[in-house]
Order: sequence, then C-alpha cells, then structure tokens
Amino acid sequence: MRITDVQTFVCSYAFPEADRWYAGGRGQREPLATHFNAIVIRVLTDEGLTGLGEVMPWSDIDARVRAVREVVAPRLRGRSPFDADLLTVFGTDLHVNLALAAANVACWDIVGKAADTPLYRLLDTEGLAEPRLRCYASGGVRWAWFDRPEQLIDEALQHQANGFTAMKLRVGTSWERAGVTVPRFLDLLTRLRAAVGPEFELMLDANMRFSPDEAGDVTQLAVGLRELDFRWFEDPIMRAEDDDAYRGITAEATQADSAAVYRRLREESGMAISGGETTFDPRVVRRLVDADALDIVNLDVTWVGLHQARRMARWLRARGRRCIPHSWTTAIGFAATAHFVAATPNRYTLEYQTIQNRLMDDLVTDPLLPANGYLTLPERPGLGIELDDAAVAGKFQRIEGDILKNL
Ligand SMILES: [Mg+2]
Repeated sequence: MRITDVQTFVCSYAFPEADRWYAGGRGQREPLATHFNAIVIRVLTDEGLTGLGEVMPWSDIDARVRAVREVVAPRLRGRSPFDADLLTVFGTDLHVNLALAAANVACWDIVGKAADTPLYRLLDTEGLAEPRLRCYASGGVRWAWFDRPEQLIDEALQHQANGFTAMKLRVGTSWERAGVTVPRFLDLLTRLRAAVGPEFELMLDANMRFSPDEAGDVTQLAVGLRELDFRWFEDPIMRAEDDDAYRGITAEATQADSAAVYRRLREESGMAISGGETTFDPRVVRRLVDADALDIVNLDVTWVGLHQARRMARWLRARGRRCIPHSWTTAIGFAATAHFVAATPNRYTLEYQTIQNRLMDDLVTDPLLPANGYLTLPERPGLGIELDDAAVAGKFQRIEGDILKNL
C-alpha cells in the first residue's frame, strides 16, 4: 500500500456570545476566544484506505497548512503508511513538526483499518488496554473575576449533574486588573470544594500564568490546593523550555533553573505537579522528571504523534510516573488521544473539553463523546471516525483571523 496524497481542510466554529470563553491574561488583557479552528489532514492511499489527523490549530494556520503541503505531503507520497515512525521524525521547525505529528496519527488510522483493528488495540503491547475511560470535564474558562466568580461553582455543579466525577479549572481572568490575591482565590476554591463535596476530583491549570519571581505566592496557592485535596496543579510557573525547546535552542542551564523552581514548589507544598503539554523534545521531559520537577506528564498527542507519545509513556511508566495527556483540539485529536489513553497502562483519566466546541461533535461521523462522564471506545477499525465532508464544506467554513479578541 502506498500513500498517494495528503488533503488539508481548515474548519472553524464561531461561539455564540454566551459560549465565548477567556483564555487567561495578565495586566489589563482579557483575551476572549470567539471561535475555534481545526486543521484536518486526510492521507489517501492507492488501496482506497484513508486516515485522519489534526494539526494543532491555535495559531499560524497558513504556515501549518503550508507545512503539510510543501514538506509533509511530498515526504509521504509513494511511501507506506506502515513506515509512519520513520516518515515523521521531527526537525527544528514548529509548524512542520506539528504537521508531522498529524501525519503520524493519520498513518496509524490507516494501519488500523488495514488490520481491521481499533487503534487502542494496536497501540496496546501489554494486554492492559481499557476501552472504557473516565473523562474529566476540562473547563472553568467562562467565569471572570471582574464579573461573578461564583459562576465557576455553578459550572462545577453542572458537570457533576452531567455525570462527571472530576473537573479541571483555570485561574480566571487577569488577577492584576481585578486585584485578585492568592487568599481570595483560595476562598473561592474553598467554597467550590464545599459545593461539590469531598469525592469530586478537582484539578487546577495555571497555564504558566505565574513567573518564577512569584514562586512564593504559587507555593502558598499549592499548599492551599493540597489542603483542599486537589488532584494536581498543572503548569504553575513559566518554564524556560516552553518557549523554544522544540527548536532546540534553550540552554540546558536555563532548563535546569526551571526544573529547580518546580522541584522546590513540589517539596515545599507537597502538591502533585503536572506539565509538558507543549513539549516536543522527549529530552526536556526526561530532564524535568529526572530532576523531580514533575509528578505527572501531560504530553499532547497532536504535538508529538502516537509513536513518540507511546515511547514517552513507556519511559514514564518505568519511572513510576503517570501519563495523563492534554487534549484541547477537536474530534480527531480527541479520538487519537482517547485511543492512546486506553492503550497506556499508566493512564488515569481522559481530558474532555467542555467549551461547547461543536467541532468536537459534528466534524466527523460517529464522534467519540462521553456519556455520564465515561467514554467507551468503539470497536470500529483505526480511529473509528470519518470526516463529515458536508459539514466541512458547509457549516464549518473557515473564519479568518485570530481566535482571541482582546477586551
Ligand atoms: Mg494545561
């Protein structure tokens, strides 16, 4: 079987006013997400089998589409999808690497179809796959400090009513602008914990909002999270390697500084720390784990592809660490992540974004969607989904411009 071509589709969904959400800001900024994008690739073969992948769509859409068309497609044409690992070795260009990760997933989809086997069974090498996955509601992005922060509690109760047993939230809109302090945030979280009860799992993602200079405040916050029995604290502080590790240019000494800040935070707070969602380079993850800087690695399948995700998960398992992937794209990225989590023994739970992004539900036929807080993977071969071409050409036509609007 040979690959004949790679198609690309850019799709968008505009949030209704009420569903717009805050992407978190500092200073006077309040970035608001007005729409969401998907960059879908479909790999075609001479035997009629096709595979889907998704290029991480947050920014630089045109550069990523060009990377697919000008670098990845020529590399794949005429080759076998069974050679995906060799065909998708990363280089030094961010956009090309993201396009390669998508191609890697699409090739796995084809291989699954050729073997008439669901992807999670192909990825599982130890007989420890679990097709029924507990999902956590990933949200907490629609409440605002300048409005009514208690909306966060309303949302958590809604997730609980919908059958979810866990939720991840964010730190809210600009703290500087609204004069928010750690004690004020902890007061809100204390009321949240009282509302949802002791059994409901809570996680906090700071999206690296704090700088290393603020480590004292962050430690105070982490201690509070431990006392409120939060499961993990994700990306608390900006790390050096997040800017340019994937380009391979951050000095190891600078990375070591970041690792030391994280290790100190873990030691002083006793709180489990998670990170790694925007890291291509497995050496960076290894340095952080070996330096006792991370308890949990939340690698992203749309950033690294399935071959590398599996290698990293195995390495983490050998060191007794959990791999709990990040997932914040659309139906295709979510399906790939779900199959990966199902096949990964050091799994814990699956991230399900709850921002009413219709590209999760309507971009593909037979989308994978949780019910009552659980997702059961289908036994269809490969990813088990197909692109809905009518939706791509119709209601999901591309919207130009940045997905974030600064208020
Ligand atoms: Mg995160």
